[in-house]
Amino acid sequence: MFRSIRWRIAIPFILLILVCVAGLSLYLSQYFKNNYTDELKIQLTHQARLISDSSVSSFEAGQPEDLDELVKQAGEHIEARVTLIDLQGTVLGDSEEDPGTMENHADRPEVQEAILEGMGSSTRYSETLGYDMLYVAVPLVVDNQVVGVSRLSVSLADIDESLHDIYRTLALGGTIVVAIALLLSIQISRITVEPIRRLTQSSKRMAEGDLNQQIKTTSGGDEVEELGRAFNQMAARIKDMLGEITAERDRMSILLAHIGDALFVVSDEGKITLTNEAAEDFFYLSREQMLGRTLIEIVRDHEIDVLLQECQRTREEQTALVETGSLGKHFAVTVTPLQGKTDCLVVLRDITAQRKTEIVRRDFVSNVSHELRTPIASISALAETLKEGALEDPSVAGSFLEKMLIELDKLSQMVEELGELSRIESGMAPLNKTTIDIAEVATRALRRLEAQAERAGIDLMTELPQNLPSLRADPDRIEQVMVNLLHNAIKFTPPGGKITVAATQEERGLRVSLADTGAGIPEADLPRLFERFYKVDKARTGGGTGLGLAICKHLVQAHGGEIGVESVEGRGSTFFFTLPW
Ligand code: ADP
Repeated sequence: MFRSIRWRIAIPFILLILVCVAGLSLYLSQYFKNNYTDELKIQLTHQARLISDSSVSSFEAGQPEDLDELVKQAGEHIEARVTLIDLQGTVLGDSEEDPGTMENHADRPEVQEAILEGMGSSTRYSETLGYDMLYVAVPLVVDNQVVGVSRLSVSLADIDESLHDIYRTLALGGTIVVAIALLLSIQISRITVEPIRRLTQSSKRMAEGDLNQQIKTTSGGDEVEELGRAFNQMAARIKDMLGEITAERDRMSILLAHIGDALFVVSDEGKITLTNEAAEDFFYLSREQMLGRTLIEIVRDHEIDVLLQECQRTREEQTALVETGSLGKHFAVTVTPLQGKTDCLVVLRDITAQRKTEIVRRDFVSNVSHELRTPIASISALAETLKEGALEDPSVAGSFLEKMLIELDKLSQMVEELGELSRIESGMAPLNKTTIDIAEVATRALRRLEAQAERAGIDLMTELPQNLPSLRADPDRIEQVMVNLLHNAIKFTPPGGKITVAATQEERGLRVSLADTGAGIPEADLPRLFERFYKVDKARTGGGTGLGLAICKHLVQAHGGEIGVESVEGRGSTFFFTLPW
């Protein structure tokens, strides 16, 4: 309790006041005592002189025995003991004792002083009475001759008695003053400390997180008011700054959340201290699972870890293209040292799709040139042979021309399909959507390939419910998709096989499927089957271009649907596509 400022202010005050009051009381009591004694001495001196004067006649008359009588009478009127002593120290008269029994008083200091200096006083302990006595003596002068001493004495106990009243008054006054001072100092310290107490409370609340702290201040200019104003300014500033930091943090987290690249801030000890949503998606881990762990534990790639170590060592940016074996993804990795810190920022940009597109484009160019090279080479070989003489032999020439026409047909089919594909891809072939009946469209496609299927010895079956709801689509394009799929099915199904075309109603649209009992497709080829020029087994393509399924995919996607395949090698394939309502 006494450690509080309040008491630290109050206690010195109280002590100071106590010391002052005690000092003042002591001084006053001493002063009163001295004053009283001095007054008493003067009074006693006057009385001693009176007695001295009145005893002169007895001396002049030479009747010193009268003096004792005179002194005893005087003693009755004066509140003091009166003693007359001659120059030899013999007591001539005493107001309280018989002078004959009293000892010689010549050695008494007041007596000697009075004879020598005209006035003497002394304070000493009286053995006879048992307490301190004040003695005042004046010379007894007869005809200008000192003949004795008139001495008056009073007990100091009487003086003390009188002084006690004064002391009591002083003590009472002192106590009242101390009490008032005590109350005042407590009150003053309370008033002084109150703003500091409020300040402390507000600071504590602020430390607990409540930043809406403002202290009531007046326009006064004392130090505590100043402190209060400074506190209010500080609280407002902290609140503003915190608001700015929070807004900045929110902006940052929105930014982090919407960045497509995976981000990691890695501390000096190699622990992840910050990451984002993209990283969660890339590595199928929650943020909590990633924070505090090392980068390699998350990305599981030595190359990325080496880049991080290199950046930590050199404090220079590191970049590389990395293919992670574990995820089968391609990343453009940048590791940057964070300024002013020992942390590093690791950014992983997923370029898998980009890489795939690059591969597809590269394959496309090489495929196109490869596909074109074969017919062009055969046409040029045939033309060369004709030129070198085969033209002379009409039967050979005829067959050569026939072969040349077949190759040209292939070429023009390929050019046409490529043109078609690029038109669809670039949106140059707009869909003419009308309300269609899928069963009708399927029947038309089946009819177109009926003869071909019959020649190949394949049964065409349908499972097309009559009451299927109609939907909006481009009937010619959907027919084209079905013809392509049917054409493939016939091509890859041996005689005696069966192709079933079915349509079913689903929640989100119609599902059309074409199931054959043909060669089937190896599982490894399924993911790339719909790419341009992709052929499973070049030997058994039956002269196809590898563009048919790519065209189907684009046409179905243009309708907002999806296309897919399920296949078991040697047992058959089921191609299916959906069309949304
Ligand atoms: P193509 O003109 O060569 O038939 P597609 O794009 O239509 O080109 O087909 C790509 C490849 O997919 C074909 O070369 C073939 O290997 C495989 N394929 C397509 N349909 C079937 C099917 N029904 N059965 C087995 N393989 C198929």
